[in-house]
Amino acid sequence: MQKIILVVDGMTCSACSNGLEKYLKKQNGIVDATVNLVMGNTLVTYDETKINLKKIETYIGEAGFKSLGVWNDNSLEQDQTKETKTGIFYTILAIVLLYVAMGHMIGLPSLPILHMEKYPVYYTITLLFLTIPFLYYGFDIIKSGFQNLIHKMPNMDTLVSIGVISSFLYSLFSTYQILKGNISYLEQLYFESAAIVIYFIKLGRYIDHKNKNKTKKAIQELVQITPKEALIKRDNKEYKVTIDEIEKGDIVICKQGEKIAVDGVIIEGVAHINESFVTGESKHPKKTKNDTVIAGSINYDGYLEYRAERIGKDSTISEIVRLVVEATNTKPPIAALADKVSSYFVPIVIGIAIVTFCVILLFDGNFSLALNNFVTILVVACPCSLGLATPLAVIMGEGICAKNGILVKKSEVLEMASKIDTVVLDKTGTITYGTPKIETIIRYNQMEEKDLLQLVGSMEKKSKHPIGKAFVDYLEENGIPSKKVDHLQEISGEGIVGKIDGEEILVGNAKLLARYHMENIYQKEELKLAKKQNSIVYVARKDKIIALIGVNDIIRDDVEKVIQKLQQQNIETIMLTGDHQETAQIIASKIGIHHVIANVLPSKKAEVIQNLKKENHFVMMCGDGINDSPALANADIGLSIHSGNDIATSTADVILMQDHLYGILNLIDISKKTIRNIKQNLFWAFFYNSLMIPIAIGLLKPIGISINPMLASIAMTLSSLTVILNALRLKNIRFIK
Ligand code: ADP
Ligand code: MG
Repeated sequence: MQKIILVVDGMTCSACSNGLEKYLKKQNGIVDATVNLVMGNTLVTYDETKINLKKIETYIGEAGFKSLGVWNDNSLEQDQTKETKTGIFYTILAIVLLYVAMGHMIGLPSLPILHMEKYPVYYTITLLFLTIPFLYYGFDIIKSGFQNLIHKMPNMDTLVSIGVISSFLYSLFSTYQILKGNISYLEQLYFESAAIVIYFIKLGRYIDHKNKNKTKKAIQELVQITPKEALIKRDNKEYKVTIDEIEKGDIVICKQGEKIAVDGVIIEGVAHINESFVTGESKHPKKTKNDTVIAGSINYDGYLEYRAERIGKDSTISEIVRLVVEATNTKPPIAALADKVSSYFVPIVIGIAIVTFCVILLFDGNFSLALNNFVTILVVACPCSLGLATPLAVIMGEGICAKNGILVKKSEVLEMASKIDTVVLDKTGTITYGTPKIETIIRYNQMEEKDLLQLVGSMEKKSKHPIGKAFVDYLEENGIPSKKVDHLQEISGEGIVGKIDGEEILVGNAKLLARYHMENIYQKEELKLAKKQNSIVYVARKDKIIALIGVNDIIRDDVEKVIQKLQQQNIETIMLTGDHQETAQIIASKIGIHHVIANVLPSKKAEVIQNLKKENHFVMMCGDGINDSPALANADIGLSIHSGNDIATSTADVILMQDHLYGILNLIDISKKTIRNIKQNLFWAFFYNSLMIPIAIGLLKPIGISINPMLASIAMTLSSLTVILNALRLKNIRFIK
């Protein structure tokens, strides 16, 4: 199975994107396809044994669009200057056309030779020739409109095309009559309305493009311009190389004021580093030996040497951009609804237009009126604003999240987060910083403290659990070498078991002891430690408990405020942890959480989440991605704090790139605002269409309200503009920091 994002040209409305999506999904070998109207691309999942890239591109062509190749960072940029120039030319032409056609009606002086009554033939032919360029200008619309009609997926282009072509053909017929001397047909020329409809739709699209480009920018700003060159050190000599020449393991030098070239780990030096483009954080953390650096971040004030770790496509920033773009290709459920509505909309509108045409012709006999209303209906009812309503807001929302260090992996999250009523937080690494320190050591045999910690540290070196880090750090800080460990086994939520010097060692909590049927006579002391907010680590060797160690982790500064704000919004907060009940309780009471579920194994955590969901709660799980994966995957939204290399593989739907929890509040806030924005957009789009169609049919004529194709196209442009401007308002969301 292979996934690919292709840039698609020629999509203009949700009927287009729906059509393409349906068409691609029908093809043998394509497993899934999602088309993104705003970004102008499609994410295709395909079976590479059955189909190749070229074939997919052919299918896109068959559906009436054009593939511009595989998406990359540069695809975000688009030059609009040519479009602007063409636009200006046609604006002038449109003014000339309108002047010739209608200037005399409002008393403007006209060229004598183009006088309608005196020289009807010149007048008509001039209009015809002024109109033809517009057919060329709008050829893409007409082509796509009819192509989609042939594929039985009529879209808004189909509406416009039928409208424009009908008016044009009828005007040609009138021209023929005028040439024959039948002057009464002067009243039945619709050249200018055909041209102006195209003009306004093109104008609308131009504005639309401009705004889409703005939204793309939010994402583009993520595509950090990493430096093109870097200084590397090989065999103690410095070489200047291009960034592509850097290999994994190379030592790269970064001087003060320069940018980090590739992701890596510092091996020498200290510096404050600005990585705000990833984390959204304005503070510049101080980094030193063994800390990781991200390509594109700026070294403020030090000299650094670092080892290249992840290069090119594997780098953090490439991963983020890819994930954000992939996310914008998924659709929230509310978008599916809008898509469905607009896919019925087009055929229904065509139906209404035909019926209106026939009814007027039958009962009134006025062909010109019938045609006028037919075209007006088609033009006014374009579900253009309807199609833009959700995707624009979603992309805005996601862009804002991305810019502020909240990495949203699928669009559903944006809708779901507004509904969340329960937030479950893991303790270690989420509520706490996940950097525990050894606090109390109680030994039950003669072993030296140093030897004991060497034993534990050697074991923990192979574990990824935050508790283990306390011991590993201790060994490193004191320069104690680690011992060889065999058969190490990690029992999630309990601890680790392994062999050192042939002796079996257990490091973990009381559950681990119970698993190995060991008698535990130290429960009282355990409770004492737990009451001091310590996590419990027993050490046992050869079936005997040799020590009880308490490790203490620091509670995050911001967590109390986050809990408080959540509770103010009537969101229930629950602490879910594998740690001791007593330890958990103490931390919970410090930060204001009333509901604690402690002593649960990672697999049980998922069960807790499932049960909450069964009780009709919408649950967000915030965990550390190390052993909370099942719970993260089961929650309506799984959220984790970024901890190293796991952005792409993490089961979390949302990853906070910064080391604090305000992202939870911000995500919920953005989600609520985005969903409200979408609802407003949908309302305006529907309201507008249901208002305009009756007018276009001619139902309001008795009370003096009517409309012609030209006004219809202006109105339609305005309605899209309303939706676009409304979505852009999302930019003003304020963040809690
Ligand atoms: P949390 O839910 O707070 O993240 P875990 O489920 O990861 O906690 O772990 C629960 C408990 O299991 C820890 O508090 C600790 O007592 C024990 N434990 C788990 N892994 C280890 C380990 N590698 N070393 C020592 N103790 C461990
Ligand atoms: Mg944990």
